[in-house]
Amino acid sequence: MFRWKVWLNRIALVCLISVVMISWSVSHSSVLAEKVQFQILQINDVYEIAPLAGGAEAGLARVATVRKDLLAENENTFTVMAGDFFSPSALGTATVDGDRLAGQQMVGVLNAMELDLATFGNHEFDLTEPQFRDRLEESKFQWFSGNVRDAEGEQWKNVPDYVIRTIESESGEKVRIGFVGTTIPSNPAPYVSYLDPLDKMKEDVEAIVDDVDVIVAVTHLNLPDDQYLAENIPEIDIVLGGHEHDNIQQWRGKDFTPIFKADANARTAYIHRFTYDTGSDELEVESELEFLTEAIALDPDTEKAVDYWEQKAFDGFRENGFEPEAVITETEIPLDGLESSVRNESTELTHVIADAVLNSATDVDVSIFNSGSIRIDDVMPPGIITQYDVIRVLPFGGEIVTVEMSGELLEQVLNQGLANRGSGGFLQTSGVTQDSDTQNWLVGDRPLDPTTTYKVATVEFLISGNEIGLDFLNTDNPDLKVLSKEGDIRFALIDQLQAAN
Ligand SMILES: [Zn+2]
Repeated sequence: MFRWKVWLNRIALVCLISVVMISWSVSHSSVLAEKVQFQILQINDVYEIAPLAGGAEAGLARVATVRKDLLAENENTFTVMAGDFFSPSALGTATVDGDRLAGQQMVGVLNAMELDLATFGNHEFDLTEPQFRDRLEESKFQWFSGNVRDAEGEQWKNVPDYVIRTIESESGEKVRIGFVGTTIPSNPAPYVSYLDPLDKMKEDVEAIVDDVDVIVAVTHLNLPDDQYLAENIPEIDIVLGGHEHDNIQQWRGKDFTPIFKADANARTAYIHRFTYDTGSDELEVESELEFLTEAIALDPDTEKAVDYWEQKAFDGFRENGFEPEAVITETEIPLDGLESSVRNESTELTHVIADAVLNSATDVDVSIFNSGSIRIDDVMPPGIITQYDVIRVLPFGGEIVTVEMSGELLEQVLNQGLANRGSGGFLQTSGVTQDSDTQNWLVGDRPLDPTTTYKVATVEFLISGNEIGLDFLNTDNPDLKVLSKEGDIRFALIDQLQAAN
């Protein structure tokens, strides 16, 4: 197949309250032929199965409703996930039958929702190899990935480089759609190897271009890499991406290849309605960003699966002493747990956690914890906070320990915490501040004295020597003495939020 893609026009840009519609067309000749329609429902970066914001938005049962509506409109509808859903998720940290759920709840609900196609995100490889292989095995949807291989460079079982789906019009006209997938190699696990995500996509496109009518690139890349694909592989008709957590629509390259990403956690989904002219090879698409709000009903079948997995996870949390549904407090302010915030500065949320650590024992001078332990990557809106919300904030928990530390060591740790700005090793504190003029540390209202010993509350992970730049902060360090353990940081946070009531 040799294909000209010439831009004739880019039609309508219609903005409604909750809808952005874009359409365009490509064409090279006008031959009388049939127009065949198909649709793609796109989601990406989903970590929660249940609705968010107190039930007001998102939720895979809402995606399922949209999917069913689209199928009623046109049976040639594909639901596609552009990666990142095995992890990180709070429910996935629940221990059930001796192992963490680790994305089992996501696969279970996506199966119930009858997802069609998925490619890998970087976070799929947060799992251990047995967990990862189990999730692949459990998936009833079709995986595909051009560039992710096992440690030996072999393909994963049932994960081809690309898939081709053929649809047929009522009069028997066939249209072949090629789906190619690629993933950013940013969370390398020892059991995974990567081919170059951009070069390999070029190879995959070349391999199928003569056998298909439409090429859909499903990607999990940084936006500049998606732009590169759009600019350098003109055979790609549309890029459906993930990885960024905010919705994106852009056009790149000389034939204005569109790039679409939906919002994380299915706060939105993209609906793409294609019309392919079998005679002219003209492709048109109208893309609509659908906000999954209360206006969309929860699909009962998928909702049942959501309840099943949520209760399974909650039972696991209950075994560990939590009451996930218990309301702790009601906040009047938003609590910012976005990674881009907490890894660079302190927020109301980091203050309350640092205070919780400080108050977990008596006579503590300073508390310190690593911002990387906050995983919610979301702003919690004002409203009720349940114990499950606390688990969402600190899904991996961790034991609080109180230690005695020399002032000299404390200063070294605090300075390294600042040097770690931008990473999970950026340290959050309570009881200590930095004088903005002199840059000197103040413990309470007195200058930090290197020759004094301080009582510091922190988390066990931080005194393991495994935090960035803090290898010297370990229990073999003679300037550090462990005094006692104070329990899981999540229970301390629950107490702190309760006390603030
Ligand atoms: Zn990602």
